[in-house]
Amino acid sequence: MSDKKSRITKATTHVTQNEGLLFEVSRPGRTGYSLPALDVPERPTETFIDGKLLRTDDLKGMPELSEVDVIRHFTRLSTWNYSVDTGMYPLGSCTMKHNPRINERVARIEGFANLHPLTPVELAQGALEVIARLEECLAKITGLHAVTLQPAAGAHGEMTGMMMIRAALTDRGNPRKKVLIPDSAHGTNPASAVICGYTVETVPSNSDGLTDLEALKREMRDDVAALMLTNPNTLGKFERNIEEICRIVHDAGGFVYMDGANMNALVGVMKPAASGIDVMHMNLHKTFSTPHGGGGPGAGPVAVTSALEPYLPYPRIVVAGGRCTVDFDRPKSVGRVRANFGNYGMLTRALSYILTFGDEGLREMTETAVLNANYIAEKLKTTYEVPYPGRVMHEVVFSDKWQTRHGVKNSDISKRLIDYGFYPPTMSFPLIVHGAMMVEPTEGESRAELDLFIDAMKSIDAEAVEEPETLRRAPHSTKVGRLDEVAAARKPVLKWRLNDDSRA
Ligand SMILES: *Cc1c(COP(=O)(O)O)cnc(C)c1O
Repeated sequence: MSDKKSRITKATTHVTQNEGLLFEVSRPGRTGYSLPALDVPERPTETFIDGKLLRTDDLKGMPELSEVDVIRHFTRLSTWNYSVDTGMYPLGSCTMKHNPRINERVARIEGFANLHPLTPVELAQGALEVIARLEECLAKITGLHAVTLQPAAGAHGEMTGMMMIRAALTDRGNPRKKVLIPDSAHGTNPASAVICGYTVETVPSNSDGLTDLEALKREMRDDVAALMLTNPNTLGKFERNIEEICRIVHDAGGFVYMDGANMNALVGVMKPAASGIDVMHMNLHKTFSTPHGGGGPGAGPVAVTSALEPYLPYPRIVVAGGRCTVDFDRPKSVGRVRANFGNYGMLTRALSYILTFGDEGLREMTETAVLNANYIAEKLKTTYEVPYPGRVMHEVVFSDKWQTRHGVKNSDISKRLIDYGFYPPTMSFPLIVHGAMMVEPTEGESRAELDLFIDAMKSIDAEAVEEPETLRRAPHSTKVGRLDEVAAARKPVLKWRLNDDSRA
């Protein structure tokens, strides 16, 4: 046994973070297939493919692998990532939740998955109906008049919404100059406003973590095009003065844009239109089933009032007499923001999600998400400072203030969480909370799982008191430990060789 043990290579211990490239694993002569013997006469390739299309070298350097080599390689690589399938992923503002697998099945239905985007309208009726029905569902959920599914992400939806506001104001004679954004907003909001030609003014939060109404009144002049309001905001707080906020902005002739990326806290409970919102986006890849992370495709549908409807991106799908047609004749439209009708696979998942849950199910989803966040907030509020105390929506923001007394920062706490088997929370955001840790458990976590997380956070706090030195070197259980973050940014090593021990 003992000499066997000494031969255990890194690739078979713990998480296999030293997997070689396929080219390195390759061995001459290995194959992953076996073909039956040829039962027709052999012919030279040149007799059926034009000689000038054939390569002249003999294709050196392709990996030669067995089936098991390939399966193990990719399965090992898959263990490098933490995922919602591995455990709780409390990354605040990102809604990293479990999505029912049925939605994946629906997205893979051949008629949807393999449909060519330029298929004639008469032959794509079912696919177009999916779009029309999803638009209808999202209009119902937000209470707004019409929806576009074209934008490919939340930030893209913000840009689309701001383009529509600019077009509407221009039609009225003046696009105006500024956009107001509370300091608790998501960072993409100011970027979207600037891309649409506006300058940004910040509205401060009050001591409850809500938009300061007096400051808003002062800033809201006739050169302000819109207020962009993240609701619930990035402190996890519901802007409970939202009706008053909308009134102030509307009275000065501006529009209210709601960043609805956090709709996981509102679906089935609150319709933004009822409070006076003019335009908003949602993130299908947060609230409505598309898995996200890793830079995969997303979708950021935008919903608008009837006043903004003419400005929606074209083409629009029109349903009449049980048939879908595509309308390009939209003279006021801001134009296309995406090829075809957007990221279609995301749309089928979202519709499947909404229809399988139904009104009741969606409401329960929201209520459970909010309950779970408040459970964590309540259980940890004596261990970690909650700078803006009180009830939260779907996420809660803690700070590292009490742990910094022992020289332990939010990054130490987060890295130690990895050892306990959890993904770290969102770090140092929102900016108005120093040393922030933003935790969003989502509705998918059971009480048992939430308790494990709470225990881990309490245990880390105890370590901060007892052994802060060790804590500051976490994580301890991963192949790669604490990185030198400055060197990683300044002198990144973008290539490595197999069996290079200096990396471990
Ligand atoms: C995630 C998020 C966004 C941006 O969405 P992307 O799809 O990443 O562009 C905007 N606002 C809020 C509040 C968010 O949480």
